[in-house]
Amino acid sequence: MSNQITNEQDIKHNFIAGEWRSSSEYMQNINPSDTNDVIATYATATSNDVQDAVSAAVSALPLWSSSTSGERFDILDAIGSEIIQRKGELGDLLAREEGKTLKEAVAEAHRAGSLFKFFAAEVYRSESEGYRSLREGISLEIQREPIGVVAAITPWNFPLAIPAWKIAPALAYGNTVVFKPSELVCGSAWALAEIISRAGLPDGVFNLLMGQGTETGAALVEHPNVAGVSFTGSSVVGRKIGASVFARGGKMQLEMGGKNPLIVLDDADLEKAVEFAINGAFFSAGQRCTASSRLIVTENIHDSFIDAMSKRMELLRIGDARNPKTDIGPVVSEAQLKKNLEYLRIGLNDGAKHLMGGDQVEQTTPGWYLSPALFINAKSEMKICREEIFGPIAAVISVSDYDEALSVANDSEFGLSAGIVSNDRLIIDHFIDNIQAGMVQINLPTAGMDFHAPITGRKNSSFGPPEKSSYCREFFTNTKVIHANYGKRLNSKREGS
Ligand code: NAD
Repeated sequence: MSNQITNEQDIKHNFIAGEWRSSSEYMQNINPSDTNDVIATYATATSNDVQDAVSAAVSALPLWSSSTSGERFDILDAIGSEIIQRKGELGDLLAREEGKTLKEAVAEAHRAGSLFKFFAAEVYRSESEGYRSLREGISLEIQREPIGVVAAITPWNFPLAIPAWKIAPALAYGNTVVFKPSELVCGSAWALAEIISRAGLPDGVFNLLMGQGTETGAALVEHPNVAGVSFTGSSVVGRKIGASVFARGGKMQLEMGGKNPLIVLDDADLEKAVEFAINGAFFSAGQRCTASSRLIVTENIHDSFIDAMSKRMELLRIGDARNPKTDIGPVVSEAQLKKNLEYLRIGLNDGAKHLMGGDQVEQTTPGWYLSPALFINAKSEMKICREEIFGPIAAVISVSDYDEALSVANDSEFGLSAGIVSNDRLIIDHFIDNIQAGMVQINLPTAGMDFHAPITGRKNSSFGPPEKSSYCREFFTNTKVIHANYGKRLNSKREGS
């Protein structure tokens, strides 16, 4: 949305080549808990801005890629410390602009700070590895080198944590960065960029370009001097970006959508299973790539599960994201609300039973509030069980036993996260070995990962090396293999001595 600028203080610029740069176009972001609350006005990057940011990142590369481990550590660690120290304020802004509850938002800010600290420490871990050559007198070394300019393209649902887990490793491994956040959450992105801008990085090492995906994002992805694109977002956009990056020979890491199953078996602790389902399906208003949108329940316990689920759902408090009593905040935007309402209609049309929820809840302020919705009698072939809704809507699929549950769980184009609630160790082991998902949760909600664990999926959920943890080094570095014959070692024993 382009708007007239009204208040100089609330205008936030892009960060290019070490300077805050104004633009000819601006957009505003709105609080989904109170749509009368305009948070601020943000510069929209033009094609010249994209050009300048990439050029600055290219120019800064020799200096940053040759920086010492100590220099990189100090900067990343300082960024992490400031984020953690200001997590209350950053979390409040995140809750205000995205609609995530305050508790979840503050936890996300803390996680973003921890990620910078993790990758600060990563700087000191080995950058090269030695192997024994098969040949006498030859040394074999594997060296890691930065890939160059990295474009970090991020979604709106984790506006601090996801940028952190792309920007921090990119910098730690010696790359320069152009960061393009989602247009819906420029506030958190700008706050993060402002912290990074003061951390002591040479000009051009880190750049912020706010703008629409189809314009700013596309221009960045197609730029020949962007060596690698680290993208998190929907599978539709991810595949499009993937084709474009592949066509010009760039490197990519794509983390995309999910349609995550939570299996609940006869022997499950019902109370816990319901808590996992409530958390996985509805917390963050269901707007997590790892949300449990398919609840696959064995028929013997189906009715008692539904009964307990509906009682628990009635207790969920929907409201302003920044009210500490709120369990479920609004969905992020009007477009997302409309998409959710459309899926409620599709589910009914396709023959599922709409058991409860899905109401646009009135609050004291106008906002995009939707009560969590539950479908029952759902079938795997229905659209609500196949497409990612990305809202507080879950569907229960009744199955006869574990074997059918597993087959339904795997009947998806996605393979991000999958959970099972059971105490049967043999079944759990079988599930771990046979579920087609990158992340598996045993007696836990499908959403919720340790910050230092990799994020990875199968099928249409992911492409390229995992994100987070040391595994992401595969994306952020290129490998060089060095066989060398240095002649006799200087310190080797002389013949006859
Ligand atoms: P989205 O795909 O609409 O947008 C993601 C980012 O891509 C945004 O910054 C957007 O501006 C940009 N973009 C859009 N079109 C582009 C184009 N043509 N070229 C370049 N950039 C473009 O996703 P979203 O609505 O912001 O986020 C929700 C999606 O993200 C869901 O599908 C969710 O599952 C996914 N997600 C995945 C993970 C994961 O780790 N797998 C984590 C969080 C969210």
